[in-house]
Amino acid sequence: MSQNQRTIGGPITFSGKGLHTGELVTMTVNPAPADSGIVFRRIDLKGAPEVAALAHNVCDTSRGTTIKSGKAKVATIEHILSALWTMGVDNATIDIDAPETPIMDGSAREYAAEIERVGTIEQDAPRNYFSVEEEFCFEIAKKGVKVVISPAEEYSVDVIVDYNSEVVGRQHFRYDSSVSYPEAIAPCRTFVFLHEIELLLKLGLIKGGSVESAIVVVEKPISDSTKKRICKVFGKDDIAVERGYLNHQRLRFDDEIARHKLLDILGDLALLGRRIKGHVEALRPGHYANTQMAAQLENKISDK
Ligand SMILES: [Zn+2]
Repeated sequence: MSQNQRTIGGPITFSGKGLHTGELVTMTVNPAPADSGIVFRRIDLKGAPEVAALAHNVCDTSRGTTIKSGKAKVATIEHILSALWTMGVDNATIDIDAPETPIMDGSAREYAAEIERVGTIEQDAPRNYFSVEEEFCFEIAKKGVKVVISPAEEYSVDVIVDYNSEVVGRQHFRYDSSVSYPEAIAPCRTFVFLHEIELLLKLGLIKGGSVESAIVVVEKPISDSTKKRICKVFGKDDIAVERGYLNHQRLRFDDEIARHKLLDILGDLALLGRRIKGHVEALRPGHYANTQMAAQLENKISDK
């Protein structure tokens, strides 16, 4: 069934730190006219340059998805994009005063709550769809990463994660129109393996990170000295290890990691700028594979 485009019911504002840069950022999502798509505007830069949330603008996928156009660059766009697009917003102008979106609690919970609060408005233009007519595949065989899109009338996404981790195990979650995004997907937080944290700190990433904004997976018992170091990094007096997860908070779902991967892929595939009619199956997906898939579909559209 074809539907009309929608925009956000009114401006919604978020403030917080960027996960990687640690910079304070304020971001306001504003209504936008039909056919404008989702566009970021760097209001801290001269002339407020814009960058459209489209696959050909992706310039980096190392820890999140970064888009760039001219001088305007915005990092970690996937969570706000996931919430807006999946909750029916086709058009929005996002004013942001820093090069990265706020990480919030590592999930899209607050975004979803604000979108629900102001609602969406139907616009006088039909939605643009991409009907998948043949199978598309992107694979990194040696990493066990594979994203496949096949023909289907409705949009649905299956995510399977398996990191050979006893803690995480094999997890599967499926999104389709029967799933409540605000309840089942938006609250799921980003995650990181403990052994990655020290490396990320060395690389100057995750400056704004804290135990509250990510699930930390601990695969082996940690020594007291490691625990002390981690406490210092996160500015905590003590950190509890529970069920293999380093955190003060409990998991929001047993399969929160697969659900967060689903949150991410919904955001990354929104970079197509069209509603997909097709079924996505993603094994161990990541931002690189997701955005490569969005680019493949985008190329298919421009070939026509
Ligand atoms: Zn994410």
